[in-house]
Amino acid sequence: MLDLLLRQIIVFSSIFFVVFVFYRIMSAPQRRWMSYPTLEEYWKQNPTCKTARGTKCHYCHSGHIRQFGVTDNRDNRRIHFCNQCNHGLYRS
Ligand SMILES: [Zn+2]
Repeated sequence: MLDLLLRQIIVFSSIFFVVFVFYRIMSAPQRRWMSYPTLEEYWKQNPTCKTARGTKCHYCHSGHIRQFGVTDNRDNRRIHFCNQCNHGLYRS
């Protein structure tokens, strides 16, 4: 009886562990995207970066910003990086 209970605990723990690891791996791009502020939050955190010509980098003050999809170029979750110093700035 105890042996059966122990086996069930091991099986359920293993299933839980596999599901948890799978979830963490699959949600990594979303968590990475969410780790960046939105443009409004970026402007609020760095008021001097909002200019009449657009947005500039908080680190090097460059106005050249490029964007990438989180997983690939077709991904609508975009992260904007400074083209000069390569810092991640905000998401859209
Ligand atoms: Zn920069």
